[in-house]
Amino acid sequence: MAGMKSLLSNILSYSPLRVLLHLRSNTKIIVCNYHRLYEGKRNTDFDDGVFAHSVKTFEKHLEWLKKNTKILSEAELLALIKSGTAIPKMCSMVTFDDGYIDNYTLAYPLLKRLNVPAIYFIPTSPINTRCLGWWDIISYIIKKTTKTSFCYNDEVYTLEQPNVVIRRFQKLFMEKPFQETSALLDTLSDLCGVPLPDIQTQSNELMTWDQIREVSQNGIDIGSHSDSHIVLNTLSSDEQKKEMVVSKSIIENKIDKSVRTFAYPVGGYQHFSQHSMELVSECGYGAAFSFNTGINDTRMLTACDIKRIEPPELNTYLVSLAAFPKVFSDI
Ligand SMILES: [Zn+2]
Repeated sequence: MAGMKSLLSNILSYSPLRVLLHLRSNTKIIVCNYHRLYEGKRNTDFDDGVFAHSVKTFEKHLEWLKKNTKILSEAELLALIKSGTAIPKMCSMVTFDDGYIDNYTLAYPLLKRLNVPAIYFIPTSPINTRCLGWWDIISYIIKKTTKTSFCYNDEVYTLEQPNVVIRRFQKLFMEKPFQETSALLDTLSDLCGVPLPDIQTQSNELMTWDQIREVSQNGIDIGSHSDSHIVLNTLSSDEQKKEMVVSKSIIENKIDKSVRTFAYPVGGYQHFSQHSMELVSECGYGAAFSFNTGINDTRMLTACDIKRIEPPELNTYLVSLAAFPKVFSDI
């Protein structure tokens, strides 16, 4: 009864206009995150896990999002966070992580043609040094080895299912303190008898600063994805802060625009902490994005934890508009 009373008094405290606005508003912001797109062949010498969709499917995603949601730009999201106002219809965002070349050759022409805003989150050290991230190098070594097994830390790894071994070593980078994994790529290279890929081979997979500057002048915002892409929870507080400060300043110098958003490397809740969220805001970012964390509700929007999902296959998108939020409510 007390609950009913408080519900009634809450309803009465709303002006009719406010009630109307509330009923008409939608509270969902779906942020779709991508890494790489493929055309034709999906497999490369590197990590296959980052190729979620073909460029054709991506185009269909964009068409669906354009038709059924309002696609927000970085500026519109930041304004929404500040104002806390209700949104008139379901909103969405499109983001890409890691600075791969296909973000420029495949995604950018489509985003431009369909006039869709997006944020590219760039890890600065890989772009500067032209070296791919640890997840790609691990995949490269395991895919190229001709050995059938190898021994690491007193454990024998058989290579009948290379993907299982790849995921196990990638997991080490996500969980162990950085000091324990910093030499692991060289060790793995020795154990598997596979030299690390040469710089040109690695460089071919990444955007250049010129390409990043070009997209930033044509509707795509550039956010920071840290400097080294090391998982923040494996670093000290000072090291985390350095990742946020250094990357921001490098990108700002390169594109001559201010960098206002950050995406946590890897991005799950096990990969960064409440402290990382405080640091990100201390370092001058207006919003920070997690990954594989769900759909945002504007009534509980947290600037330093804008949730993102990996878009599901197209048939899930093609359910009716009414069912769309429901599809994701389980995530
Ligand atoms: Zn990443």
